[in-house]
Amino acid sequence: MSEDIKRQSIENICASLSYAMGIDVCKCAEAPSDLLCRYIDEVFGREKSDRVFMFNPDAIAEWIYKKYPELFKEVEMRCELHLPLNAVMPSVTPVCFGTMYTGASPDVHGIKAYVKPVITIDTLFDALIRAGKRAAIVADSASSLAKIYLERDMDYFVYDTVEEVNAKAAELILRDEHDLIVVYNKNYDSTMHRVGPEGIEALAEIKANSRTFGMFSDMIAKHWKDHNTLVGFAMDHGCHEIDGGAGSHGLDMEEDMHIVHLYKAYKAEK
Ligand SMILES: [Zn+2]
Repeated sequence: MSEDIKRQSIENICASLSYAMGIDVCKCAEAPSDLLCRYIDEVFGREKSDRVFMFNPDAIAEWIYKKYPELFKEVEMRCELHLPLNAVMPSVTPVCFGTMYTGASPDVHGIKAYVKPVITIDTLFDALIRAGKRAAIVADSASSLAKIYLERDMDYFVYDTVEEVNAKAAELILRDEHDLIVVYNKNYDSTMHRVGPEGIEALAEIKANSRTFGMFSDMIAKHWKDHNTLVGFAMDHGCHEIDGGAGSHGLDMEEDMHIVHLYKAYKAEK
């Protein structure tokens, strides 16, 4: 990644996804990402995407992505666009995912610390529902994504384990009923906090995220051939090592703030 590409923010993702799907942007969203919109236009031309699949692994930092490229092989070979982004402060999960799907700063969406209330401002999910589209979130029961977007007329699939989350996500791909599917995987974050960002067990969870994303991508390429689809490998924030070999995040430092999303657009086969 060239540093002369202006680093945008996860605030710019929400409007980009609205742009991809050709729906009105939700009310508080910041501008879309030029890079992501240009890529969408390059692939779809004048058409829009009728499916968006967002895979949200937690806490994978850009520095980890750069230092361990072999762990991301399954993602790299299936994505085309690299989007360097800043997280928002404090760089913790509910704050950042609150921004990703509202396009709004923490001051505007209201989650400014590690708390998980239901967001009451307009969200990407509300905009989708107004456009007559169906959205689903698939996440584990303790996670921010299972909580902060509740109380909408959409589908929530909440389970205790990442394995169940991913099995349901695979089922939803085969069912092909949702216009937007958001899938959350906690396993790198929860392991990294315990053994550090570069602990062997933590790095193994990145490999698991990468393989899972590869499997979803292959399923989408095979089963959604008649859809224009945008697929994202989209983390919330990064992480850094702290004393005792453990891991943490939440600070305004490059390790926690710099992330890189990867995207691939699949044009329908006509
Ligand atoms: Zn997180």
